[in-house]
Amino acid sequence: MQYYVASPRKLPAREFDVLVAGGGTGGTVAALAAARAGARTALVEAKGYFGGTIVEGGCSLHSYFNLWQAFPGVEKRQLVRGIPDEIIHVLKAHGGTPGHVDQLSNVVYDSACTTIDTEIYKFVIMKMLRESGVQLFLNTTLTDVVRDGDRLRGAVVESHQGAEIFFAKNFIDATGFGDLSARASAPHIELNDHGVTNSMGVGGVNIERYYDFLSAHDAVHELARGDRDGKPDKVIRIVADFKKLGDHVASAFREVDCAATVSTTRDDYLMFVKISCRMQTNPLYRDALTETEYLLRERQIRSIELMRRYLPGCENAFIARTSPSLTIRRARCITCEYDMTNEEIINGTHYEDDILSYGFHDSAPRFQVKNGESYGLPYRAIQVKELRNLFAIGMLISTNHDAHMSTRNTVCCMAQGQAAGTAAALCALGGIGDVRDLPYRTLHDRLKADGVWFDHDPLPEK
Ligand SMILES: Cc1cc2nc3c(=O)[nH]c(=O)nc-3n(C[C@H](O)[C@H](O)[C@H](O)COP(=O)(O)OP(=O)(O)OC[C@H]3O[C@@H](n4cnc5c(N)ncnc54)[C@H](O)[C@@H]3O)c2cc1C
Repeated sequence: MQYYVASPRKLPAREFDVLVAGGGTGGTVAALAAARAGARTALVEAKGYFGGTIVEGGCSLHSYFNLWQAFPGVEKRQLVRGIPDEIIHVLKAHGGTPGHVDQLSNVVYDSACTTIDTEIYKFVIMKMLRESGVQLFLNTTLTDVVRDGDRLRGAVVESHQGAEIFFAKNFIDATGFGDLSARASAPHIELNDHGVTNSMGVGGVNIERYYDFLSAHDAVHELARGDRDGKPDKVIRIVADFKKLGDHVASAFREVDCAATVSTTRDDYLMFVKISCRMQTNPLYRDALTETEYLLRERQIRSIELMRRYLPGCENAFIARTSPSLTIRRARCITCEYDMTNEEIINGTHYEDDILSYGFHDSAPRFQVKNGESYGLPYRAIQVKELRNLFAIGMLISTNHDAHMSTRNTVCCMAQGQAAGTAAALCALGGIGDVRDLPYRTLHDRLKADGVWFDHDPLPEK
Protein backbone atom coordinates (compact mmCIF):
# COMPACT_ATOMS: atom_id res chain seq x y z
CA MET A 1 0.00 0.00 0.00
CA GLN A 2 1.35 3.43 -0.94
CA TYR A 3 0.27 6.58 0.86
CA TYR A 4 -0.19 10.19 -0.13
CA VAL A 5 -0.54 13.11 2.29
CA ALA A 6 -3.37 15.38 1.13
CA SER A 7 -2.87 19.11 1.57
CA PRO A 8 -5.30 21.15 3.72
CA ARG A 9 -8.33 22.39 1.79
CA LYS A 10 -10.30 25.62 2.07
CA LEU A 11 -13.95 24.52 2.16
CA PRO A 12 -17.16 26.50 1.71
CA ALA A 13 -18.95 26.39 5.08
CA ARG A 14 -22.61 26.36 6.14
CA GLU A 15 -24.23 26.45 9.58
CA PHE A 16 -27.12 24.34 10.88
CA ASP A 17 -28.64 23.45 14.22
CA VAL A 18 -28.97 19.75 13.46
CA LEU A 19 -27.18 17.64 10.89
CA VAL A 20 -28.60 14.22 10.06
CA ALA A 21 -26.24 11.96 8.12
CA GLY A 22 -28.09 9.31 6.12
CA GLY A 23 -31.55 9.90 4.67
CA GLY A 24 -32.81 6.35 5.09
CA THR A 25 -35.45 4.70 7.25
CA GLY A 26 -34.55 6.44 10.52
CA GLY A 27 -32.71 9.52 9.26
CA THR A 28 -35.66 10.88 7.30
CA VAL A 29 -37.88 10.70 10.38
CA ALA A 30 -35.15 12.31 12.50
CA ALA A 31 -34.89 15.20 10.04
CA LEU A 32 -38.68 15.66 9.91
CA ALA A 33 -38.84 15.77 13.72
CA ALA A 34 -35.90 18.18 14.06
CA ALA A 35 -37.18 20.62 11.43
CA ARG A 36 -40.72 20.55 12.78
CA ALA A 37 -39.35 21.36 16.24
CA GLY A 38 -37.90 24.53 14.74
CA ALA A 39 -34.26 23.54 14.12
CA ARG A 40 -32.35 24.49 10.97
CA THR A 41 -31.89 20.92 9.81
CA ALA A 42 -29.64 19.45 7.11
CA LEU A 43 -30.21 15.94 5.76
CA VAL A 44 -27.25 14.48 3.89
CA GLU A 45 -27.90 11.41 1.73
CA ALA A 46 -25.37 9.67 -0.50
CA LYS A 47 -27.92 8.33 -2.99
CA GLY A 48 -30.26 10.25 -5.28
CA TYR A 49 -33.40 9.57 -3.24
CA PHE A 50 -34.49 9.19 0.38
CA GLY A 51 -35.69 6.00 2.06
CA GLY A 52 -32.62 3.77 2.42
CA THR A 53 -33.24 0.15 3.33
CA ILE A 54 -36.97 0.65 3.77
CA VAL A 55 -37.27 1.01 -0.02
CA GLU A 56 -34.44 -1.38 -0.91
CA GLY A 57 -34.37 -4.28 1.49
CA GLY A 58 -37.44 -5.16 3.47
CA CYS A 59 -40.76 -6.79 2.85
CA SER A 60 -43.26 -5.64 5.38
CA LEU A 61 -42.73 -2.91 7.93
CA HIS A 62 -42.37 -4.64 11.29
CA SER A 63 -44.33 -3.60 13.21
CA TYR A 64 -46.57 -0.80 14.33
CA PHE A 65 -48.46 -3.18 16.65
CA ASN A 66 -47.98 -5.56 19.54
CA LEU A 67 -48.02 -9.31 18.85
CA TRP A 68 -51.63 -9.55 19.99
CA GLN A 69 -52.70 -12.46 17.79
CA ALA A 70 -50.05 -14.76 19.27
CA PHE A 71 -51.55 -14.41 22.74
CA PRO A 72 -55.30 -15.05 22.84
CA GLY A 73 -57.13 -12.49 24.91
CA VAL A 74 -54.44 -9.83 24.52
CA GLU A 75 -55.68 -6.49 23.28
CA LYS A 76 -54.51 -5.18 19.87
CA ARG A 77 -52.48 -2.02 20.44
CA GLN A 78 -50.77 0.29 18.01
CA LEU A 79 -47.43 0.92 19.72
CA VAL A 80 -45.74 3.13 17.15
CA ARG A 81 -47.63 6.26 16.17
CA GLY A 82 -46.35 9.82 15.66
CA ILE A 83 -44.38 10.58 12.48
CA PRO A 84 -43.81 6.92 11.47
CA ASP A 85 -47.58 6.43 11.35
CA GLU A 86 -48.19 9.78 9.67
CA ILE A 87 -45.94 8.59 6.82
CA ILE A 88 -48.22 5.58 6.30
CA HIS A 89 -51.29 7.86 6.18
CA VAL A 90 -49.70 10.18 3.60
CA LEU A 91 -48.46 7.17 1.63
CA LYS A 92 -51.95 5.68 1.64
CA ALA A 93 -53.42 8.93 0.33
CA HIS A 94 -50.96 8.62 -2.58
CA GLY A 95 -51.87 4.99 -3.28
CA GLY A 96 -48.56 3.77 -1.88
CA THR A 97 -49.78 1.30 0.75
CA PRO A 98 -52.90 -0.62 1.73
CA GLY A 99 -52.19 0.59 5.28
CA HIS A 100 -52.03 -1.69 8.31
CA VAL A 101 -53.82 -5.04 7.92
CA ASP A 102 -53.98 -8.13 10.13
CA GLN A 103 -51.80 -11.13 9.31
CA LEU A 104 -53.91 -14.19 8.52
CA SER A 105 -51.37 -16.89 9.34
CA ASN A 106 -48.07 -17.34 11.18
CA VAL A 107 -49.36 -14.75 13.61
CA VAL A 108 -46.80 -15.90 16.16
CA TYR A 109 -44.22 -14.08 14.02
CA ASP A 110 -46.13 -10.85 13.39
CA SER A 111 -49.76 -10.03 13.96
CA ALA A 112 -49.99 -7.13 11.50
CA CYS A 113 -48.70 -6.40 8.03
CA THR A 114 -47.83 -3.03 6.49
CA THR A 115 -46.51 -3.22 2.94
CA ILE A 116 -45.36 -0.26 0.90
CA ASP A 117 -44.84 0.71 -2.72
CA THR A 118 -41.13 1.52 -2.77
CA GLU A 119 -41.25 4.06 -5.58
CA ILE A 120 -44.18 6.03 -4.14
CA TYR A 121 -42.45 5.96 -0.76
CA LYS A 122 -39.39 7.66 -2.26
CA PHE A 123 -41.60 10.46 -3.59
CA VAL A 124 -43.80 10.84 -0.51
CA ILE A 125 -40.96 10.98 2.02
CA MET A 126 -39.17 13.63 -0.02
CA LYS A 127 -42.38 15.65 -0.32
CA MET A 128 -42.85 15.53 3.45
CA LEU A 129 -39.23 16.55 4.05
CA ARG A 130 -39.55 19.50 1.67
CA GLU A 131 -42.83 20.61 3.26
CA SER A 132 -41.25 20.46 6.73
CA GLY A 133 -38.43 22.78 5.71
CA VAL A 134 -35.55 20.30 5.95
CA GLN A 135 -32.58 21.40 3.85
CA LEU A 136 -32.01 18.45 1.58
CA PHE A 137 -28.67 17.30 0.19
CA LEU A 138 -29.03 14.30 -2.10
CA ASN A 139 -26.09 12.74 -3.97
CA THR A 140 -23.96 14.05 -1.11
CA THR A 141 -21.70 11.81 0.95
CA LEU A 142 -20.37 12.48 4.41
CA THR A 143 -16.62 11.85 4.19
CA ASP A 144 -15.03 13.40 7.27
CA VAL A 145 -15.71 15.33 10.47
CA VAL A 146 -14.20 18.12 12.51
CA ARG A 147 -14.04 17.12 16.16
CA ASP A 148 -13.15 19.45 19.00
CA GLY A 149 -12.49 17.46 22.18
CA ASP A 150 -15.69 15.67 23.12
CA ARG A 151 -17.83 17.67 20.67
CA LEU A 152 -18.42 17.33 16.97
CA ARG A 153 -18.19 20.67 15.20
CA GLY A 154 -18.72 19.88 11.56
CA ALA A 155 -19.10 17.29 8.85
CA VAL A 156 -17.26 17.35 5.56
CA VAL A 157 -19.55 16.37 2.70
CA GLU A 158 -18.74 15.72 -0.95
CA SER A 159 -20.95 16.05 -3.98
CA HIS A 160 -20.34 16.54 -7.69
CA GLN A 161 -19.76 20.23 -7.00
CA GLY A 162 -16.92 19.46 -4.57
CA ALA A 163 -16.30 19.35 -0.83
CA GLU A 164 -18.06 21.55 1.74
CA ILE A 165 -18.22 21.70 5.50
CA PHE A 166 -21.52 21.74 7.37
CA PHE A 167 -21.20 23.00 10.94
CA ALA A 168 -23.96 22.06 13.36
CA LYS A 169 -24.79 22.06 17.06
CA ASN A 170 -25.99 18.45 17.14
CA PHE A 171 -25.48 15.44 14.90
CA ILE A 172 -27.39 12.26 14.20
CA ASP A 173 -25.68 9.25 12.65
CA ALA A 174 -28.34 7.43 10.62
CA THR A 175 -25.99 6.10 7.95
CA GLY A 176 -26.52 2.40 8.65
CA PHE A 177 -22.79 1.91 8.14
CA GLY A 178 -21.95 4.27 11.03
CA ASP A 179 -19.73 6.46 8.85
CA LEU A 180 -20.30 9.61 10.89
CA SER A 181 -19.50 7.98 14.23
CA ALA A 182 -16.46 6.17 12.83
CA ARG A 183 -15.05 9.35 11.27
CA ALA A 184 -15.59 11.01 14.66
CA SER A 185 -13.57 8.20 16.32
CA ALA A 186 -16.59 7.28 18.43
CA PRO A 187 -16.21 3.91 20.15
CA HIS A 188 -17.72 1.12 18.07
CA ILE A 189 -17.31 -2.50 17.05
CA GLU A 190 -17.40 -4.13 13.61
CA LEU A 191 -19.66 -7.13 13.18
CA ASN A 192 -20.34 -9.66 10.47
CA ASP A 193 -23.28 -11.57 11.90
CA HIS A 194 -25.83 -11.27 9.09
CA GLY A 195 -26.10 -11.98 5.42
CA VAL A 196 -26.21 -9.16 2.89
CA THR A 197 -28.95 -8.87 0.32
CA ASN A 198 -29.96 -7.33 -2.95
CA SER A 199 -33.77 -7.40 -3.10
CA MET A 200 -35.43 -7.26 -6.46
CA GLY A 201 -38.85 -6.28 -7.70
CA VAL A 202 -40.20 -9.02 -9.96
CA GLY A 203 -42.71 -8.17 -12.69
CA GLY A 204 -44.84 -10.36 -14.95
CA VAL A 205 -46.20 -12.49 -12.08
CA ASN A 206 -49.76 -13.79 -11.84
CA ILE A 207 -50.05 -13.60 -8.07
CA GLU A 208 -53.39 -15.46 -7.89
CA ARG A 209 -51.98 -18.41 -9.83
CA TYR A 210 -48.88 -18.41 -7.64
CA TYR A 211 -51.04 -18.35 -4.52
CA ASP A 212 -53.36 -21.12 -5.81
CA PHE A 213 -50.34 -23.29 -6.61
CA LEU A 214 -48.86 -22.83 -3.13
CA SER A 215 -52.27 -23.44 -1.50
CA ALA A 216 -52.73 -26.67 -3.45
CA HIS A 217 -49.41 -27.88 -1.99
CA ASP A 218 -50.21 -26.65 1.51
CA ALA A 219 -47.16 -24.42 1.10
CA VAL A 220 -48.54 -21.03 2.24
CA HIS A 221 -46.65 -20.32 5.44
CA GLU A 222 -47.63 -16.69 5.89
CA LEU A 223 -50.41 -14.64 4.35
CA ALA A 224 -51.91 -11.17 4.49
CA ARG A 225 -54.64 -9.68 2.34
CA GLY A 226 -55.47 -6.06 1.65
CA ASP A 227 -56.04 -3.49 -1.08
CA ARG A 228 -53.91 -4.19 -4.10
CA ASP A 229 -54.05 -1.72 -6.96
CA GLY A 230 -57.31 -0.41 -5.49
CA LYS A 231 -59.02 -3.82 -5.29
CA PRO A 232 -59.88 -5.16 -1.81
CA ASP A 233 -58.99 -8.50 -0.23
CA LYS A 234 -56.05 -9.34 -2.48
CA VAL A 235 -52.86 -11.16 -1.48
CA ILE A 236 -50.29 -8.56 -0.37
CA ARG A 237 -47.88 -10.78 1.55
CA ILE A 238 -47.12 -14.42 1.00
CA VAL A 239 -44.40 -16.58 2.47
CA ALA A 240 -43.94 -19.94 0.76
CA ASP A 241 -42.70 -23.09 2.40
CA PHE A 242 -40.48 -24.31 -0.45
CA LYS A 243 -39.88 -27.60 1.37
CA LYS A 244 -43.51 -28.55 0.63
CA LEU A 245 -42.70 -28.26 -3.09
CA GLY A 246 -40.08 -31.00 -2.91
CA ASP A 247 -36.46 -31.26 -1.84
CA HIS A 248 -35.12 -30.40 -5.29
CA VAL A 249 -37.09 -27.12 -5.36
CA ALA A 250 -36.12 -26.19 -1.80
CA SER A 251 -32.45 -26.92 -2.39
CA ALA A 252 -32.37 -25.05 -5.74
CA PHE A 253 -33.70 -21.87 -4.07
CA ARG A 254 -31.46 -22.41 -1.05
CA GLU A 255 -28.38 -22.57 -3.27
CA VAL A 256 -28.99 -19.00 -4.48
CA ASP A 257 -30.33 -17.89 -1.08
CA CYS A 258 -33.59 -16.70 -2.66
CA ALA A 259 -36.12 -16.08 0.12
CA ALA A 260 -39.66 -17.29 -0.16
CA THR A 261 -40.98 -14.18 1.58
CA VAL A 262 -42.60 -11.65 -0.72
CA SER A 263 -44.90 -8.69 -0.42
CA THR A 264 -46.60 -6.38 -2.88
CA THR A 265 -49.09 -3.57 -3.34
CA ARG A 266 -49.42 -4.12 -7.11
CA ASP A 267 -51.02 -6.67 -9.43
CA ASP A 268 -48.57 -8.78 -11.42
CA TYR A 269 -45.65 -7.57 -9.33
CA LEU A 270 -43.72 -8.90 -6.35
CA MET A 271 -42.28 -5.82 -4.66
CA PHE A 272 -39.46 -7.50 -2.71
CA VAL A 273 -37.78 -10.81 -3.48
CA LYS A 274 -34.68 -11.17 -1.31
CA ILE A 275 -31.48 -12.65 -2.71
CA SER A 276 -28.76 -12.96 -0.08
CA CYS A 277 -25.33 -14.31 0.74
CA ARG A 278 -22.93 -14.45 3.67
CA MET A 279 -19.77 -12.41 3.21
CA GLN A 280 -16.44 -13.67 4.52
CA THR A 281 -15.64 -10.24 5.92
CA ASN A 282 -17.54 -7.35 7.43
CA PRO A 283 -19.42 -5.43 4.69
CA LEU A 284 -17.35 -2.29 5.37
CA TYR A 285 -14.59 -3.57 3.11
CA ARG A 286 -14.91 -2.19 -0.39
CA ASP A 287 -13.13 -4.87 -2.38
CA ALA A 288 -15.11 -7.66 -0.76
CA LEU A 289 -18.27 -5.63 -1.34
CA THR A 290 -17.47 -5.24 -5.02
CA GLU A 291 -17.14 -9.02 -5.41
CA THR A 292 -20.36 -9.58 -3.48
CA GLU A 293 -22.32 -7.07 -5.60
CA TYR A 294 -21.47 -9.27 -8.61
CA LEU A 295 -22.30 -12.50 -6.84
CA LEU A 296 -25.73 -11.22 -5.83
CA ARG A 297 -26.55 -10.02 -9.35
CA GLU A 298 -25.59 -13.41 -10.68
CA ARG A 299 -27.86 -15.04 -8.08
CA GLN A 300 -30.71 -12.74 -9.10
CA ILE A 301 -30.49 -13.98 -12.67
CA ARG A 302 -30.44 -17.59 -11.48
CA SER A 303 -33.36 -16.96 -9.10
CA ILE A 304 -35.56 -15.64 -11.88
CA GLU A 305 -34.80 -18.77 -13.91
CA LEU A 306 -35.84 -20.91 -10.93
CA MET A 307 -39.02 -18.93 -10.40
CA ARG A 308 -39.97 -19.37 -14.05
CA ARG A 309 -39.22 -23.09 -13.94
CA TYR A 310 -40.74 -24.11 -10.61
CA LEU A 311 -43.40 -21.58 -9.64
CA PRO A 312 -46.60 -21.51 -11.70
CA GLY A 313 -47.74 -17.90 -12.07
CA CYS A 314 -44.10 -16.84 -12.48
CA GLU A 315 -43.51 -18.25 -16.00
CA ASN A 316 -43.06 -14.74 -17.40
CA ALA A 317 -41.28 -13.26 -14.40
CA PHE A 318 -38.60 -10.65 -15.02
CA ILE A 319 -36.45 -8.38 -12.90
CA ALA A 320 -38.18 -4.99 -12.83
CA ARG A 321 -36.10 -3.38 -10.07
CA THR A 322 -32.97 -4.07 -8.07
CA SER A 323 -31.33 -2.07 -5.31
CA PRO A 324 -28.58 0.27 -6.55
CA SER A 325 -26.26 -1.49 -4.11
CA LEU A 326 -26.60 -4.40 -1.74
CA THR A 327 -28.23 -3.82 1.63
CA ILE A 328 -26.81 -4.78 4.99
CA ARG A 329 -28.35 -5.72 8.32
CA ARG A 330 -25.37 -4.16 10.06
CA ALA A 331 -21.65 -3.47 9.77
CA ARG A 332 -20.71 -1.20 12.69
CA CYS A 333 -22.37 -1.07 16.07
CA ILE A 334 -21.85 2.26 17.80
CA THR A 335 -21.25 2.21 21.55
CA CYS A 336 -23.98 4.15 23.30
CA GLU A 337 -24.60 5.02 26.92
CA TYR A 338 -26.94 2.05 27.32
CA ASP A 339 -26.96 -1.26 25.48
CA MET A 340 -30.20 -3.22 25.74
CA THR A 341 -30.07 -6.96 26.24
CA ASN A 342 -32.37 -9.43 24.54
CA GLU A 343 -33.72 -10.46 27.96
CA GLU A 344 -34.83 -6.91 28.62
CA ILE A 345 -36.59 -6.86 25.28
CA ILE A 346 -38.43 -10.17 25.58
CA ASN A 347 -39.35 -9.42 29.20
CA GLY A 348 -41.05 -6.21 28.10
CA THR A 349 -38.79 -3.88 30.10
CA HIS A 350 -39.63 -0.20 30.23
CA TYR A 351 -37.33 2.55 31.50
CA GLU A 352 -37.67 5.87 33.27
CA ASP A 353 -36.41 7.54 30.06
CA ASP A 354 -38.40 5.64 27.43
CA ILE A 355 -38.52 7.34 24.04
CA LEU A 356 -40.73 4.78 22.27
CA SER A 357 -42.64 1.55 22.72
CA TYR A 358 -42.13 -1.46 20.48
CA GLY A 359 -43.27 -5.06 20.35
CA PHE A 360 -41.84 -6.94 17.35
CA HIS A 361 -38.97 -9.45 17.34
CA ASP A 362 -37.62 -10.75 14.05
CA SER A 363 -36.65 -14.06 15.68
CA ALA A 364 -40.25 -14.82 16.69
CA PRO A 365 -41.56 -17.29 17.66
CA ARG A 366 -38.16 -18.22 19.17
CA PHE A 367 -38.06 -14.82 20.88
CA GLN A 368 -41.24 -12.87 21.45
CA VAL A 369 -41.93 -9.90 23.67
CA LYS A 370 -43.74 -11.83 26.39
CA ASN A 371 -47.54 -11.95 26.47
CA GLY A 372 -47.89 -9.62 23.48
CA GLU A 373 -46.50 -6.83 25.65
CA SER A 374 -44.26 -3.94 24.60
CA TYR A 375 -40.79 -2.84 25.64
CA GLY A 376 -39.34 0.64 25.82
CA LEU A 377 -36.13 2.00 24.36
CA PRO A 378 -34.35 4.39 26.73
CA TYR A 379 -33.05 7.80 25.65
CA ARG A 380 -29.57 6.65 26.81
CA ALA A 381 -29.55 3.92 24.15
CA ILE A 382 -29.11 6.44 21.31
CA GLN A 383 -26.54 8.74 22.99
CA VAL A 384 -23.09 7.98 21.60
CA LYS A 385 -20.48 7.46 24.31
CA GLU A 386 -17.62 9.96 24.64
CA LEU A 387 -19.33 12.59 22.46
CA ARG A 388 -21.61 15.21 23.88
CA ASN A 389 -23.62 16.04 20.76
CA LEU A 390 -23.97 12.85 18.72
CA PHE A 391 -26.82 10.36 18.47
CA ALA A 392 -26.72 6.99 16.69
CA ILE A 393 -29.96 5.40 15.53
CA GLY A 394 -31.44 2.57 13.51
CA MET A 395 -29.38 -0.51 12.74
CA LEU A 396 -26.39 1.13 14.47
CA ILE A 397 -27.46 0.31 18.03
CA SER A 398 -27.77 -2.89 20.14
CA THR A 399 -24.54 -4.89 20.32
CA ASN A 400 -26.26 -8.17 21.06
CA HIS A 401 -27.32 -10.04 17.92
CA ASP A 402 -30.67 -11.16 19.35
CA ALA A 403 -31.53 -7.73 20.72
CA HIS A 404 -30.59 -6.21 17.37
CA MET A 405 -33.04 -8.61 15.70
CA SER A 406 -35.71 -6.46 17.32
CA THR A 407 -34.36 -2.90 17.45
CA ARG A 408 -33.12 -2.87 13.82
CA ASN A 409 -36.57 -3.33 12.28
CA THR A 410 -37.92 -0.51 10.17
CA VAL A 411 -40.63 0.79 12.47
CA CYS A 412 -38.31 0.82 15.50
CA CYS A 413 -35.67 2.70 13.45
CA MET A 414 -38.29 5.27 12.47
CA ALA A 415 -39.43 5.72 16.07
CA GLN A 416 -35.80 6.17 17.19
CA GLY A 417 -35.51 8.81 14.45
CA GLN A 418 -38.39 10.83 15.84
CA ALA A 419 -36.83 10.79 19.32
CA ALA A 420 -33.32 11.65 18.14
CA GLY A 421 -34.49 14.46 15.85
CA THR A 422 -36.67 15.96 18.57
CA ALA A 423 -33.94 15.75 21.21
CA ALA A 424 -31.29 17.19 18.87
CA ALA A 425 -33.55 20.14 18.07
CA LEU A 426 -34.55 20.78 21.69
CA CYS A 427 -30.88 20.79 22.74
CA ALA A 428 -29.81 23.05 19.88
CA LEU A 429 -32.60 25.56 20.44
CA GLY A 430 -32.32 25.42 24.23
CA GLY A 431 -28.56 25.98 24.30
CA ILE A 432 -27.95 22.56 25.88
CA GLY A 433 -24.38 21.53 25.10
CA ASP A 434 -24.61 17.89 26.18
CA VAL A 435 -27.58 15.85 24.97
CA ARG A 436 -27.49 14.00 28.33
CA ASP A 437 -28.52 17.25 30.05
CA LEU A 438 -31.84 17.57 28.21
CA PRO A 439 -34.49 17.19 30.94
CA TYR A 440 -36.37 13.97 30.19
CA ARG A 441 -39.71 15.65 30.90
CA THR A 442 -39.07 18.20 28.15
CA LEU A 443 -38.34 15.44 25.63
CA HIS A 444 -41.18 13.22 26.81
CA ASP A 445 -43.77 15.98 26.66
CA ARG A 446 -42.70 17.08 23.20
CA LEU A 447 -42.75 13.50 21.86
CA LYS A 448 -46.15 12.92 23.41
CA ALA A 449 -47.51 16.14 21.92
CA ASP A 450 -46.21 14.91 18.55
CA GLY A 451 -48.16 11.68 18.77
CA VAL A 452 -45.60 9.25 20.24
CA TRP A 453 -47.29 6.46 22.20
CA PHE A 454 -45.87 5.54 25.60
CA ASP A 455 -47.29 2.12 26.32
CA HIS A 456 -46.07 2.34 29.92
CA ASP A 457 -45.85 6.07 30.34
CA PRO A 458 -42.94 6.99 32.69
CA LEU A 459 -44.61 10.36 33.35
CA PRO A 460 -48.35 9.73 33.24
CA GLU A 461 -50.68 12.71 33.47
CA LYS A 462 -52.10 13.03 36.95
C1 LIG B 1 -32.60 -7.39 3.02
C2 LIG B 1 -33.24 -6.80 4.22
C3 LIG B 1 -34.54 -7.13 4.51
C4 LIG B 1 -35.16 -6.57 5.60
N1 LIG B 1 -36.47 -6.87 5.82
C5 LIG B 1 -37.14 -6.18 6.75
C6 LIG B 1 -38.55 -6.33 6.86
O1 LIG B 1 -39.18 -7.09 6.12
N2 LIG B 1 -39.18 -5.59 7.80
C7 LIG B 1 -38.51 -4.74 8.64
O2 LIG B 1 -39.16 -4.08 9.45
N3 LIG B 1 -37.18 -4.60 8.57
C8 LIG B 1 -36.48 -5.28 7.64
N4 LIG B 1 -35.12 -5.14 7.52
C9 LIG B 1 -34.41 -4.28 8.49
C10 LIG B 1 -34.61 -2.81 8.20
O3 LIG B 1 -35.05 -2.60 6.89
C11 LIG B 1 -33.31 -2.01 8.44
O4 LIG B 1 -32.67 -2.43 9.61
C12 LIG B 1 -33.63 -0.52 8.57
O5 LIG B 1 -34.35 -0.10 7.42
C13 LIG B 1 -32.36 0.26 8.76
O6 LIG B 1 -32.66 1.63 8.81
P1 LIG B 1 -31.51 2.69 9.05
O7 LIG B 1 -32.17 4.03 9.11
O8 LIG B 1 -30.65 2.27 10.18
O9 LIG B 1 -30.58 2.58 7.74
P2 LIG B 1 -30.95 2.82 6.21
O10 LIG B 1 -32.41 2.83 5.97
O11 LIG B 1 -30.14 1.84 5.44
O12 LIG B 1 -30.42 4.28 5.94
C14 LIG B 1 -29.04 4.59 5.85
C15 LIG B 1 -28.90 5.69 4.81
O13 LIG B 1 -27.63 6.31 4.96
C16 LIG B 1 -27.09 6.56 3.67
N5 LIG B 1 -25.64 6.67 3.85
C17 LIG B 1 -24.76 5.70 4.20
N6 LIG B 1 -23.52 6.20 4.32
C18 LIG B 1 -23.61 7.53 4.05
C19 LIG B 1 -22.65 8.58 4.02
N7 LIG B 1 -21.37 8.39 4.31
N8 LIG B 1 -23.08 9.83 3.67
C20 LIG B 1 -24.41 10.04 3.36
N9 LIG B 1 -25.35 9.07 3.39
C21 LIG B 1 -24.95 7.82 3.74
C22 LIG B 1 -27.55 5.36 2.86
O14 LIG B 1 -27.50 5.63 1.48
C23 LIG B 1 -28.97 5.15 3.38
O15 LIG B 1 -29.93 5.88 2.66
C24 LIG B 1 -34.45 -5.69 6.45
C25 LIG B 1 -33.13 -5.37 6.17
C26 LIG B 1 -32.52 -5.91 5.06
C27 LIG B 1 -31.11 -5.55 4.74
